[in-house]
Amino acid sequence: MTETSEDFARYSRQMLVANMGVAGQQRLHRSRALVLGVGALGTALASGLVRAGVGYVRLVDRDFIELHNLQRQTLFDEEDIAANLPKAVAAAQKLTKINSSVTVEPVVADVTHRNIESLMKDCDVVLDGSDNFEVRMLLAEACAKHAVPWIYGAVISTYGVTMPILPSDGPCFHALLPNLPAPGSMPTCETAGVLGTVPQVIAALQVTEALKLLTGNRELLCRELRYLDVWSGEFISVTVPETTEPCPICHGRHYEYLNGEHATRATALCGRSAVQVHPQHAGDIDFRTLADRLTPLGEVVYNAYLLRFTAPPHEMVLFRNGRAIIHGTGDEGAARAFYSRYVGQ
Ligand SMILES: [Zn+2]
Repeated sequence: MTETSEDFARYSRQMLVANMGVAGQQRLHRSRALVLGVGALGTALASGLVRAGVGYVRLVDRDFIELHNLQRQTLFDEEDIAANLPKAVAAAQKLTKINSSVTVEPVVADVTHRNIESLMKDCDVVLDGSDNFEVRMLLAEACAKHAVPWIYGAVISTYGVTMPILPSDGPCFHALLPNLPAPGSMPTCETAGVLGTVPQVIAALQVTEALKLLTGNRELLCRELRYLDVWSGEFISVTVPETTEPCPICHGRHYEYLNGEHATRATALCGRSAVQVHPQHAGDIDFRTLADRLTPLGEVVYNAYLLRFTAPPHEMVLFRNGRAIIHGTGDEGAARAFYSRYVGQ
């Protein structure tokens, strides 16, 4: 069945835009997209795709909604919090009310090397709304392996970055970020905060690139890394050079993250309400810097060997090499989430 412009009446203003038309709208309607992470970026990404008429949108997130999310996560409200809804479910419910002619599939899951491929390989594009490098490395490898383009996006404080990453075409994620930062070395949204307008801008750029890709306007993609600080007004585009030596992901086809070699392991500790989190990508953590970031968020004490951070109902004991014991939960996913929020990956 071929849809007509009457079927697409709701998109009449969009179809007037250059290179779109009924044909572009039909292509969107037959497209499938994955949004990884349904936080500030993810809600804006999902909203943009669903309103534009992308026919199938899968939303993946492991979290529940909390009051401090409402400042920037635009698909949620106070009723969702009272109903204890997971983010993916609340977002899907809201989006289905906005556009019932597309399919929105919520998946409440922690993204790991075990499930990333089944989540992305039937999609035409992946939009990055994740909040940590481990998930992005999984995504980079899975997208290279299955030849699926993805749109990198990240936000913190008053700035954000985005770049489309196409399989076997142009700089890959390894070229952009050859060395991952050590745990605890980078600010997270929990420690540095984020202005609600930043994800709106970055997500708008990401969705625009996805719409170009899905409507067959690949030549119009902005291939640079774009950096934007909404507070200072700085807006920079940088051409990322391709890696000169053979890339381990693209050429070696050695998928260290997909193989689980770098997976952050979380193990529930028997007989205690505690989980041990062990990042494979370890490092020597600078406790003083991390303590400065965590002090406004809870009680922090540290010595040369360990840092203790209390934010009820959780307490974390963090060792210099990145290993941590999170008390107050027996759930491995919750412990990984806590670690990712406060220590980062
Ligand atoms: Zn590469």
